[in-house]
Amino acid sequence: MLEVFLKGHDKYYGVSDVLRMFCGVPEERKEEGKVVAPDGPDIRLVNELFEDGRSVTRTDDREYEFKGELLEPGREIKRSLYMALSDITSKKMPWGCLTGIRPTLVALEEESSRALEERYFVRPDKADLAFRTSREEIRLLSKVPEDSLSIYVGIPFCPSRCEYCSFVSSDISCHMDRLKNYEAALEREIELIASSINRPLAALYVGGGTPTVLDEKEFASLLDCLYSNLKILPDSEVTVEAGRPDTITAGKLEVMRAHGITRICINPQTMRTETLISVGRKHTSEDTVNVYRQACDMGFDLINMDLIAGLPYETPEEHVRSTEKLIELAPANITVHTLYKKRRAAMSREKVMDHGSTGRGLDDCVAESYRLLEEAGYHPYYMYRQKDTGHGLENTGFAKGDTGSIYNVAMMSDCRDVLSFGAGGMSKRCFAQEGEPYKHRVERCPTIKDALTYIERVEEMAEKKIAFFEG
Ligand code: SF4
Repeated sequence: MLEVFLKGHDKYYGVSDVLRMFCGVPEERKEEGKVVAPDGPDIRLVNELFEDGRSVTRTDDREYEFKGELLEPGREIKRSLYMALSDITSKKMPWGCLTGIRPTLVALEEESSRALEERYFVRPDKADLAFRTSREEIRLLSKVPEDSLSIYVGIPFCPSRCEYCSFVSSDISCHMDRLKNYEAALEREIELIASSINRPLAALYVGGGTPTVLDEKEFASLLDCLYSNLKILPDSEVTVEAGRPDTITAGKLEVMRAHGITRICINPQTMRTETLISVGRKHTSEDTVNVYRQACDMGFDLINMDLIAGLPYETPEEHVRSTEKLIELAPANITVHTLYKKRRAAMSREKVMDHGSTGRGLDDCVAESYRLLEEAGYHPYYMYRQKDTGHGLENTGFAKGDTGSIYNVAMMSDCRDVLSFGAGGMSKRCFAQEGEPYKHRVERCPTIKDALTYIERVEEMAEKKIAFFEG
């Protein structure tokens, strides 16, 4: 068991973040002043922060300290701990000692990708990715007025449950009855709040779950409600996450066209049908291709397709083959996610980490996917990381030309306000801070997660959000 004793600080969270990258799930034992990693090597470390801002991590016979310009204390303790663990385990992480969900935020503070390599030990390919993506995020964000609002509408229902999912999403095969009442409650909430909004709309995103589980009539009714209550301009970005090909019909695509939806997501996750079936999805890769072609024929020219690298039941090379197949289809956006262990997901951490015993590693195959995408004319436009990725990778959205999603960038930046309708949504207000152009102070207003309780208490949820945005 690896033990890290904290001295001169109480940044247990930061210590845990670094330990998690090397040794699995850590345990904070604050009463003993330490964080332990049961799966780590038998060694005892002291992670100390001095008053002058230096941090040293010590074993019984070695000391690790970065000699150079100091970072702020929270980052400095991680840096010395990373140096120690990297040396002890002989492992280097793709993102070095960066553990946050937005490496692009750190990249914005730096003048070059080289600075990320030297100050945070980020691998050159990831440093270059973060640096370029951060500049593209800022370019897209500059299109979104400071006082604008992005809107999220959540439909937490799906046609079946994916094994890796941790969203609060109900399987409609068991809860069909709830869906109708939920849709009615959602319309009620939109009507109650809409009249109090008098701000330009940056982007609207209808997500889930899977919004297209609604039947054609319900789906049209929801879009009618949105378009009649919100000031959606003809050039506003409006996305519908028609995520699961098994829920998309010509009729629903028609409804979207008629309302002027500009962007849809059709998410294959993998183009290998056996994997889809194994993770609990009820569609084939042929279904994905058919729906995609149908949408193109109907005039949708801004389609995003998501892939997940690292799915169990397939090898990392099969992920690369899925990327190649999507590149052949040539949607405007392709987003490459990396599977990570989600807290409420049925899939175990062991399964998340199991990529087969032969062939190339996941890291290598994700890099190959990125290379193929860039070769085909896509560029990265937004990215983020998640907590327990296990393999230390990231999620990256790629776009052709100027097709990057404003909503994705505004949402991830924490620099623009978001109003969320529906169960489980998180509304947020972002306040600029002096001297911090990219880091806003964020206040959040959660909505109750359970769909049934949301239906019962929708008026109360609406009042709470109106007060939140007026405050
Ligand atoms: S489609 Fe998405 S939200 Fe629905 S179960 Fe699968 S991962 Fe979860």
